[in-house]
Amino acid sequence: MRLDYYLAHATTLSRKEAKRIIHQGRVSVAGQVERKTSTPVEADSVVCLDEQQLVLSQGHRYLMLNKPVGVISATEDGQHRTVIDLIPPALRRDLHPVGRLDRDTTGLILLTTDGQWSHRVSSPRGQCAKVYRAQLDQPLTAQARSRLEQGVMLKGETVATRPADVESIDDRTIRLRLTEGRYHQVKRMLAAVGNHVIALHRERVGSIQLDDNLPPGAYRELSKEEISGV
Ligand code: URA
Repeated sequence: MRLDYYLAHATTLSRKEAKRIIHQGRVSVAGQVERKTSTPVEADSVVCLDEQQLVLSQGHRYLMLNKPVGVISATEDGQHRTVIDLIPPALRRDLHPVGRLDRDTTGLILLTTDGQWSHRVSSPRGQCAKVYRAQLDQPLTAQARSRLEQGVMLKGETVATRPADVESIDDRTIRLRLTEGRYHQVKRMLAAVGNHVIALHRERVGSIQLDDNLPPGAYRELSKEEISGV
């Protein structure tokens, strides 16, 4: 296919804008700047716009992002940066975060254009477990741990939380595995047992583990196995 066609299909650019950008020398193919709009490329060619590699959209997009503190899990916000702002414009079209993390929570957030997949992963009653590392204000007592493991009643609710797996990492750090997703659930569970969460980080959603190679603010595409395995 022609380079301008590729560029328009891999981004939100119109064909006219794609041509202009190619003429400006902002597009490379296999590492070489290409200014000719009719240059032939293949679907698997390495095409970069402003040094960001593009992915030819042939279906839905699925990404993982290591969310930093201070960023909102939403598509837009008048005040703060959103998770979408951390993704290159070329990949943003129709992308939304799967579920939510609080502004001060860090770690794994999934982003996709696939509404059905997103619903399956984030459904509060779904079986897709989420694993968090929580730093606590006080050491967790044996009694508090056992209450979390059995299920606790959250303030303002009438049904106890599902049993959680709790692992002690150190004196004041725990790993918590939940199989449901209620509003501020981790913080409210710890509050219900008389403790307080100082820092919260999500490590895993279903079988998808946050990639250790992603520094805060960085993203990568999910593999086929990750997409089908959640
Ligand atoms: N539980 C919380 O309290 N906050 C989050 O961001 C995620 C789970």
